[in-house]
Amino acid sequence: MAALLRGSRCLAEKCHNHVNAAQVSVRSMASKTQVGFIGLGNMGNPMAKNLMKHGYPVIASDVFPESCKELRELGAQILDSPADVADKADRIVTMLPSSPNVIDVYTGPNGILKRVKKGSLLIDSSTIDPAVSKEMAVAAEKLGAVFMDAPVSGGVGASTSGKLTFMVGGPEEEFNAAKELLSCMGANVVYCGQVGTGQAAKICNNMLLAIGMIGTAETMNLGIRLGLDPKLLAKILNMSSGRCWSSDTYNPVPGVMEGVPSANNYQGGFGTTLMAKDLGLAQNTATNTKTPVPLGSLAHQIYRMMCARGYASKDFSSVFQFLREEEGQ
Ligand code: NAD
Repeated sequence: MAALLRGSRCLAEKCHNHVNAAQVSVRSMASKTQVGFIGLGNMGNPMAKNLMKHGYPVIASDVFPESCKELRELGAQILDSPADVADKADRIVTMLPSSPNVIDVYTGPNGILKRVKKGSLLIDSSTIDPAVSKEMAVAAEKLGAVFMDAPVSGGVGASTSGKLTFMVGGPEEEFNAAKELLSCMGANVVYCGQVGTGQAAKICNNMLLAIGMIGTAETMNLGIRLGLDPKLLAKILNMSSGRCWSSDTYNPVPGVMEGVPSANNYQGGFGTTLMAKDLGLAQNTATNTKTPVPLGSLAHQIYRMMCARGYASKDFSSVFQFLREEEGQ
């Protein structure tokens, strides 16, 4: 019923694009039909599992066969390529490392758009360049499908517990259909505006996160050099105006908190390479919009240097360790 209402609202609003109302109704009325999922990495694997927990049969694909093993054992159907997935599912979520992977998965020789069904809803949760999201939306629209960007905040822990925040860009009349799936994987699903605006929100958040993490790491390091106990310093920061997510939830200093990457030699979490990529996206968009981002630029350089010095696959909070090494400790 909701789907029919949505379809008729789409018509009433003279929904000019993508998909006609009848196609939209057919797709979303088939509520618990199979959902495609492409990219079963650190984030995608638990996200796909949460869709299954909510009763959606999942049809998945990943270039790396090992990453499909767990989902196959749980009953997901694993196919060879994104095109094969598009053949069977008319709602597909993608969770890939970066813009070139997304371009390949959508428009490559075995890409989704080679065999996408008319009326399909394609949701990309990767963090990529908003310009690429817009290009994918145009390409999908030509084939009668809808593309939305829905990058996430929250990391592997939130992905596992289904508590991600999704920032969604795309046609507003499609938001409810996207939300139906995204709420199985996230606690917050926020509509940001036209396609690309989800990415814009994500890029801004991560630039601030990177700056905050470096600031926390250098502050903690200075405090330690001044003779303060790191746990005590963190406690004081967290009851004072210096408090931030990096100080109170994801502290970069080993021994200050349990259950964070700094307590586990910076394994797991959010890789330095991915943070460097996101800061690169922030730089591109800042250049295109002539926006000064001096601290964002510096953070980008620091994370790129870390990638070149062996920190690429460590969690981004390892900037603390990097600063200590820089001073010869
Ligand atoms: P990941 O590298 O662990 O997983 C990506 C998966 O995509 C891999 O399994 C890879 O084999 C697969 N893949 C790559 N190219 C493919 C192709 N052409 N066809 C099919 N599969 C392909 O990355 P991740 O940590 O899961 O991150 C995914 C996205 O989410 C990134 O854009 C990242 O910036 C963003 N993100 C990550 C985190 C985090 O904490 N890890 C948090 C928020 C957002």
